[in-house]
Amino acid sequence: MQLTSTIVRSAVVVWLLAVLAATAIAHWILPEDPHAALFALGLLCMTYTLAAFALARRIPGPTALMPLAWAAAFGMWMPIAQDYGADQFAPMLANMGAPEALLQQLALATVLLAGGIMTGAMLYLGTASSAVFVHVVVLTALVAGATLSHHETPGTTLAAVIAWHAGVAGSLMRWASHAAWAAKQGLCPACGEDITGVRDRVCPACKAAIVTAMPAKPNTQPAKRAA
Ligand SMILES: [Zn+2]
Repeated sequence: MQLTSTIVRSAVVVWLLAVLAATAIAHWILPEDPHAALFALGLLCMTYTLAAFALARRIPGPTALMPLAWAAAFGMWMPIAQDYGADQFAPMLANMGAPEALLQQLALATVLLAGGIMTGAMLYLGTASSAVFVHVVVLTALVAGATLSHHETPGTTLAAVIAWHAGVAGSLMRWASHAAWAAKQGLCPACGEDITGVRDRVCPACKAAIVTAMPAKPNTQPAKRAA
């Protein structure tokens, strides 16, 4: 129990720091130097993903590395994707009869959505959690929708950046707390089956991937450390 509450406390602290950092970047760096802000936000996302992996005792490997590299490279791939969207999607949307005034915003929304789905897929690789994937895609859809409804006032951009990182960091911390608790009990985080001593990295009951370190022996006394 002691361990569980320590993990939950750590998760809350990481989440608060992530929200504060996202707010600071969106408020001070984004209006001055958007390019630098994208780099900083990517590194921030990588940092709280890494913190979530550490809390959950995520096993190192390619599927842990890929989401970290993807997040860290956000400042590199996002401007390329934005240019691609402006060059390729905007004319395509114009041909489809989209209003001229909204072309750039529609192209950006399309790029954001595609980037969000990719990010969700990457974090799914890292967490094996479909909830994390769904949260990332839904949050990105809301942010993409916000770029359409308001004509990109600085206030909406600020709110969208903070909301996205607060939501994604929150989803990752929720996953990490649950995964750490399940690993401590020797349970599959997806179905709750006892998987102590299971050697392969797949739950025998529900076939979900096991991405966190498990105790080798059955843990019969989970509250032992509480004393
Ligand atoms: Zn299972």
